[in-house]
Amino acid sequence: MSSSNFNEKINPFEVALKQLQEASKILNLDNGMLEILSKPKRILTVSIPTRMDDGSIKVFTGFRSQHNDARGPHKGGIRYHPDVTLDEVKALSMWMTWKCAIANIPYGGGKGGIICNPKQMSENELERMTRRFAYLISDIIGPYRDIPAPDVYTGGKEMAWIMDTYSTLKGNYVQPEVITGKPIAIGGSLGRNEATGRGLAYTVREAAKKRDIDMKQATVVVQGFGNAGQFSSKLVEEQGAKIIAASDSQGAIINKNGISMDALMKFKKETGSIVGFGDTKSINNDELLETECTILIPAALENQITNHNADKIKTQIIAEAANGPTTPEADEILYKKDILVIPDVLANGGGVTVSYFEWLQNLRREYWTEEEVNNRLDLNITKSFYDVYDTHTQYNVDMRKAATLLAVKRVVEAINIRGLWP
Ligand code: NAD
Repeated sequence: MSSSNFNEKINPFEVALKQLQEASKILNLDNGMLEILSKPKRILTVSIPTRMDDGSIKVFTGFRSQHNDARGPHKGGIRYHPDVTLDEVKALSMWMTWKCAIANIPYGGGKGGIICNPKQMSENELERMTRRFAYLISDIIGPYRDIPAPDVYTGGKEMAWIMDTYSTLKGNYVQPEVITGKPIAIGGSLGRNEATGRGLAYTVREAAKKRDIDMKQATVVVQGFGNAGQFSSKLVEEQGAKIIAASDSQGAIINKNGISMDALMKFKKETGSIVGFGDTKSINNDELLETECTILIPAALENQITNHNADKIKTQIIAEAANGPTTPEADEILYKKDILVIPDVLANGGGVTVSYFEWLQNLRREYWTEEEVNNRLDLNITKSFYDVYDTHTQYNVDMRKAATLLAVKRVVEAINIRGLWP
């Protein structure tokens, strides 16, 4: 989400580079390889002239960053937000390369964004802007080149417009495999909507085993109650844990006896916020993050856990549904406190994994049951959890460094095997 929401102004691309440099040192990468990985393979910046409802023309700026495709086509979402920056998109595209490598799916990394405020645009304006953007990036995306997906403030509706525009432009036949996160009626996958939360819940289940935590005794705090936050907490609740506090952009609530996720989801749907729900007390965002609990799930914004509050966090596991919620300085503090962080690139990898399943189903023109999707997701992300956990113990580094190490190793292996040509 937006950098204006940050507790501190931190450039996400600098954070991503720092993580890569640390991994490169441990792996003894040569400078040339480090340089390849430090820069996106291709960045496209486009101006998107859009006819507004009042007849005027507004020109939006959009980006697509394609970080690396040594292991397969670029993959990553498109976000709509007033504070989107090129550096943010570049960082997110690098993290997608790592995320796909950690999930061990045959994709590289990409990310896109448009600087706009979708909340202040009509449906028709959004459609015209989205279709024009799809047209402008149509030569660099494609089922075997780069497969976009939803991200902050985009969803099935936008994906459908992009699929339709691309299919019409490129031969005028339906090509659902150009994009994922589509509505079911045009080739979306069952289970995609909950996939990020479901994947996160599977990683929490395994982390709890490693820490000898009985999920039936566990308490959970969740920051952000959108798609990722809602399904993460609902599925962790299904494992027996009690959600004791939650927040959204309007505020935060707490009830130490537990909050029913079904009831809270219903309340949020009806009223637009979680604030004022049932038998809960209002608290502020700092209090929320510092509430004592077994599992903390940041599921909203970047840079929420920083060197200012990491010391005050009283939890055993942090499962990052959001991208980039923890700063590198905070990571060091959390590691010293022996808090097990399930890093974003692993914890929220369920979304891209089921996107991969959607793409496979589209390419084969076949459809899987929800049970099949969920079972495959469980197998896949549980394996990734142990791949990262084993790297963490083998190299004696925190889980985020371990995840980056594992990813960089896999990507470097692919680059070396393919070689440089011409
Ligand atoms: P969303 O728009 O559905 O939800 C975001 C939530 O955060 C909303 O409930 C909003 O009210 C809340 N929020 C905004 N500002 C806040 C604040 N200051 N304090 C507390 N809450 C605040 O978005 P989402 O899809 O759930 O994405 C959330 C995060 O998860 C992002 O970092 C995104 O990149 C990441 N993520 C999502 C998916 C996915 O499949 N949805 C996959 C991978 C990563």
